[in-house]
Amino acid sequence: MKAAILYETNKPLKVEKVTLDEPQTNEVLVKIMATGVCHSDLHFMKGEMPAALPVVPGHEGAGIVEKVGHGVTTLQPGDHVVLMVSFSCGKCRYCAAGRPTQCVENLPIMSMATLPGGHRRLRKGNQELNHLFGLASFAEYTVVHERSAVKIRDDAPLEVVCLLGCGTSTGIGAAINTTGLRPGESIVIYGCGGVGLSAIMGAKLVGAGKIIAVDALSKKLSMAKKLGADYTINAKKEDPVGKTMELTGGGADYALECIGNVDVMAQAFASIHYGGKCIIVGMAPLGAMISAAPFEFLLGKTLMGTVQGDICPSIDIPRYIDLYMDGKLPIDKLISHTYSLGQINEAFEALERGEVIRSVIKF
Ligand SMILES: [Zn+2]
Ligand SMILES: [Zn+2]
Repeated sequence: MKAAILYETNKPLKVEKVTLDEPQTNEVLVKIMATGVCHSDLHFMKGEMPAALPVVPGHEGAGIVEKVGHGVTTLQPGDHVVLMVSFSCGKCRYCAAGRPTQCVENLPIMSMATLPGGHRRLRKGNQELNHLFGLASFAEYTVVHERSAVKIRDDAPLEVVCLLGCGTSTGIGAAINTTGLRPGESIVIYGCGGVGLSAIMGAKLVGAGKIIAVDALSKKLSMAKKLGADYTINAKKEDPVGKTMELTGGGADYALECIGNVDVMAQAFASIHYGGKCIIVGMAPLGAMISAAPFEFLLGKTLMGTVQGDICPSIDIPRYIDLYMDGKLPIDKLISHTYSLGQINEAFEALERGEVIRSVIKF
């Protein structure tokens, strides 16, 4: 089968024929039907996050289970699934406490780029290949741990709902779960890419009073408006902090930073009211630091993070899909381009240039 391989950082991906082993204990073989093209992969491809090379990237995959390994109880052949960027073991204290995206196994999987347990099932000749996020979805087939795949309804279009594997559920979840937003409260969202626009949809869904969207590209701001933003601020033309203060009468209840830029994080923190919450959703390069005036904490402000929007995948993914299918969560609007696996480098170049909101590789 074909897969896109990253041999060296800052070099194009190579689409080549590779071998995939049979699924072993607790693993499933998934035929990938569609996979989103997300900035998180780009951080590894550019060496901003340490990547275990060579690696098959791709982590917003959706497909159909073809085969199950020994001991698999939650899935069977024919099941439609969305792959999850955050693994949850179901047993550690974080999983047991209902915070599965904070699972202790997540970080090792991300840093080693293997399946849970350190396994690799991909090979190019005699060379073993790593699986980014334990998923490696830039491939015609993948083998994943059964807990990396969430079973979904059969009638949902896989080329749309694949986005829920990472960026889209992160944005929706951050706006709903991480904030705890109640109807009428205000929220300012910095960055209107796939994650930020998903956050706008999430905030709209739970009845935010004022949704303020900030970006430097007018094209993205008009999309923000279409998806539910009440106000938009072009950060190239206006000071987003001052404008948010003015629109909210002293600061928003919540701010989300959905870019991964430390200067924007400081602006987001400055945009909230006393007692407000600022949530860092974006992924900054490893080693970057943020600064905040400690005095701000005496105003009761909170600066916090989130992992994949603090969702419970087995509950929230089917729920978001139902909302999408009912027309209440238009995540399909995020997809501006589709590509084939052979066009993967083109897809990443367009993403870097800010030309696409979200693109999907279709198989
Ligand atoms: Zn766990
Ligand atoms: Zn992602």
